[in-house]
Amino acid sequence: MTHPVDCIVVGAGLAGLACAGELVRAGRRVVVLEAADRAGGRIATDTIDGFRIDRGFQVYNDAYPEGRRVLDLAALHLGTFESGAIIADGVRLRRVNDPWRRPLAALGSILDGSVGIADGVRTARLRSDAIQMVRSGVDPDATTAGERTTRDELESRGFSERFIRGFFVPFFGGVFLERLLDTSAAVFLFDFAMFSLGRACLPAGGMDAIPRQLAARLPAASVRLGIAVRSCAPGHVTLADGTVLSARDVVVAVDGASAAALLPEALRGGLAERVWKSTRLIAFAADRSPFTSRTLVVSAEPDGPIDNLTVPSDIATGYAPPGRSLITVSVRGDWKGGDPVTAVRRQAAAWCGKTVEAWHHLATVEVARALPDESPAARLARVFGPQLANGLWICGDHCGTASINAALASGRRCAKAIIGA
Ligand SMILES: Cc1cc2nc3c(=O)[nH]c(=O)nc-3n(C[C@H](O)[C@H](O)[C@H](O)COP(=O)(O)OP(=O)(O)OC[C@H]3O[C@@H](n4cnc5c(N)ncnc54)[C@H](O)[C@@H]3O)c2cc1C
Repeated sequence: MTHPVDCIVVGAGLAGLACAGELVRAGRRVVVLEAADRAGGRIATDTIDGFRIDRGFQVYNDAYPEGRRVLDLAALHLGTFESGAIIADGVRLRRVNDPWRRPLAALGSILDGSVGIADGVRTARLRSDAIQMVRSGVDPDATTAGERTTRDELESRGFSERFIRGFFVPFFGGVFLERLLDTSAAVFLFDFAMFSLGRACLPAGGMDAIPRQLAARLPAASVRLGIAVRSCAPGHVTLADGTVLSARDVVVAVDGASAAALLPEALRGGLAERVWKSTRLIAFAADRSPFTSRTLVVSAEPDGPIDNLTVPSDIATGYAPPGRSLITVSVRGDWKGGDPVTAVRRQAAAWCGKTVEAWHHLATVEVARALPDESPAARLARVFGPQLANGLWICGDHCGTASINAALASGRRCAKAIIGA
């Protein structure tokens, strides 16, 4: 580092980039040290044969309050999913509609017996409560009050087991990367509010457009790639090659497990114990989309590897070369079987027909460290941050809810605290 800096940010994921951006706006001299060869952390997109393949299926929600605050959404050219979902239940593909956006279609779901009237009423109450929670400023990142699992929340609200299994498990199982619904209800209620108020979106050309936008706003050369940090302490960091760099403030903006490895033992809290949830994405190229609507297909089938199936090239531009379609499948974390590509084709053929035979397998992407465990117990043990010691700070999705919104908010909050210190 040739010039002195006020702050060293370790990690160029969303939290680190958001933190650095806020510090730079306040006139601080900042350097961001990133071990990988690209910024973005867990948001990454690779190009294979002209297709843009995200490392794990993820979506941006355009109701995220922090995204509205810090991102230039217009410049991301977001493509939107239709609200609701198509649910494969082993018999047919059944659409579950959002009654506030497609009232007639939702009425159809009740009339054809897909959704019972009582569960429809409970969903309306859940929606209203979740929105009220967000609007009244309850922040799931900052609280652990009333922690219980999503399943406990749904059961206490009286939802039928049929509806829990037929809708909440397949839909939120894909969001949480676990199908027991033991993710905290605080996370669920926030996500439910976001899906009610906003739309699931993909940026043109892939999810990595989000971190690229944040990185592009920082001064040239302030993000240093390929620099692994070995340890962090108040006022200095030690690189993997033994070099020591100093600054008034050090921000640990890495994922929770990496933070545990970088920090002195006394400051690790429950970071080291946090378990990771993993996922796997399988991408196919096709000559045409198997669907006519821009909807996510989720599986409520007891067997089979598919968690959800989508056609990103139907949602946003730039995911596939002109005239081609990109189809991506998230594989269930609990699925055990033989060759997953063959098993996915077999299950998808029942939904999409013979066209599946012509799909060309492009890539299988394993994401071992996708989301931290967000069970009530894990959330209670988390390190809230942002200050660990004088001159040592922490941010990242592990401090709040594991989401794009939380990572961005955590980075900005950390910067604000540094500026105010
Ligand atoms: C498959 C998948 C699906 C998801 N789905 C969604 C979704 O649909 N919606 C949603 O809102 N969120 C979703 N998320 C969550 C969201 O992507 C993350 O919460 C967010 O990107 C985390 O950002 P972060 O900055 O906290 O951490 P990270 O992205 O993990 O960034 C940490 C950075 O630190 C770097 N680093 C680590 N150790 C060192 C070191 N020793 N030295 C230097 N650098 C280091 C890493 O290389 C990385 O770049 C998903 C995530 C995954 C993986």
